[in-house]
Amino acid sequence: MERILRGIMRYRILDRATMVKQFQEVKDNPVPKAIFYTCMDSRMIPTRFTETCVGDMFVVRNAGNLIPHSQHFVDEMTSCEPAGLELACIINDIRHVIVCGHSDCKAMNLLYKLKSKEESSLEQRRISPLKSWLCSHGKSSLNKFLEIGDDFEKPILFTGETPQRKFVAYIDPENNFCIEDKLSQVNTLQQLQNIASYGMLKKRLERHDLHIHALWFDIYTGDIYYFSRRAKRFLIIDESSYEIILSEIRRYYS
Ligand SMILES: [Zn+2]
Repeated sequence: MERILRGIMRYRILDRATMVKQFQEVKDNPVPKAIFYTCMDSRMIPTRFTETCVGDMFVVRNAGNLIPHSQHFVDEMTSCEPAGLELACIINDIRHVIVCGHSDCKAMNLLYKLKSKEESSLEQRRISPLKSWLCSHGKSSLNKFLEIGDDFEKPILFTGETPQRKFVAYIDPENNFCIEDKLSQVNTLQQLQNIASYGMLKKRLERHDLHIHALWFDIYTGDIYYFSRRAKRFLIIDESSYEIILSEIRRYYS
């Protein structure tokens, strides 16, 4: 807490005036352009690595950047992730939903362990809210991941904005990442399908008026990857790929 207090004192000197100016610029009517789902991991600072500022985007964070599938909710049983979707895409007019996973994700490392029946037993889930959360909302990612076994040259099929808009992904074909990081990439892509499962978004998704993107952050190198449906894999966003990725986004999602 002392660290936080010291930080607030520094903020008052260094950043407060700039932020107040930005608040005044957006006034009472901020027009955010995206909703960004990512992990609550303390190393993930999405506004810093996207250089976004006041009023630019909504951010929703949880353990493992999971968006529960709509099938889990009946009547008033819901959670904050779909409520965020409604706030962003129905009440506001946001056109881009972004899911961002990352390497060495503790939630994904645990999800991988939950492939063991003992680890994911009812007793375990009763005493561990984290295991319960991952079992309920991460199992679809785990099952998809386990389906390909250890053959990472095999493509995995995902569903995008509509049941017709399927896409293929090769997960880390160069074998740069550990098994849990590969699971994290599969999990990030699986969330696209979960987001698209909400009826409230159906019309906008069918009209190509709302788009869902996947990013992945490698905390060891600081590289950020964009999932390219054209290249069927995560591409590092850098000087050599920037124009290619931009043209894909403009072509598919303008
Ligand atoms: Zn994480």
